[in-house]
Amino acid sequence: MTGAWNNSQHPSELDPFYNVRDELSVQNGIIFKGDRCIIPNAMRNEILSQIHTHIGIEGCLKRARECVYWPRMNSELRDYISKCDVCQSLAMKQPRETLKSHDVPSRPWAKIGTDLFTLSGNDYLITVDYYSSFFEVDRLDDTSSKTVINKLKQHFARWGIPEKVISDNGPQYSSEQFKQFSKQWDFQHKTSSPGHAQSNGKVENAVKTAKRLMRKARKPNSDPYIA
Ligand SMILES: [Zn+2]
Repeated sequence: MTGAWNNSQHPSELDPFYNVRDELSVQNGIIFKGDRCIIPNAMRNEILSQIHTHIGIEGCLKRARECVYWPRMNSELRDYISKCDVCQSLAMKQPRETLKSHDVPSRPWAKIGTDLFTLSGNDYLITVDYYSSFFEVDRLDDTSSKTVINKLKQHFARWGIPEKVISDNGPQYSSEQFKQFSKQWDFQHKTSSPGHAQSNGKVENAVKTAKRLMRKARKPNSDPYIA
C-alpha cells in the first residue's frame, strides 16, 4: 500500500502511518499492519475498553499488540490502564521475585534449580525443574561438592542434561569441581546474585513443599522419599 503516498495530496491523518506504509495492506475494506488490524480514530476508545481486562498494563499491551494497531496505541493504552484502580493495585502487589525471576524455559528439564537443605539433622539435596516445578529430593551422606555432583549426575542420566543449572554460591556449587562438572557435562551454571535470595524463588518454594511433605510422612513405617 504505497501508491497513496506518491500523491502529495494524501490526507494528513495518514501522516502517522507513513513510516509503516510498507507493512500496510487492505483486506475487505479493513487496513492491516502485518497481522494487526488498524483501528480508526473513532473506534479507539471502544477498542481500549475491550482490550482492558484487569490483568495489568503489560498483559493488556501484549493482547493489543497481537491484534490491533494505531499510532501511539501503547501510550494511549498505558494512560487508559493507569486510570484503573484494580490494575494499579495489581501492579503494586507484584512480588519482587517476578522482577528478578529467570526467564521461563520452553520445555521440561531445560532449566533446573538446585539447593541443599536440612531437616531433623539430615542434609538433603533438592533438584527442581523450572518448567514443571517437579522436584527430586536426595538424602546426602555429606555436603561435599563431590556428593552433590554425584547425585546430580544420577538425575541428569535419568532425565537428560539440562541447558541451565541455577544454584546459590554455596561451597558445593562454587567449587572448582563443580566448574569442571559443568564443562564436562556441557551445561550453563548460573549462581543467583548474592543478597537476593528471591531470585531463586523456584527452589525455595520447592524446599518448603518438600519439608512439609517430609514432615507429614515422618510417621512410623512411612518413607519420606515417596511422600
Ligand atoms: Zn483494570
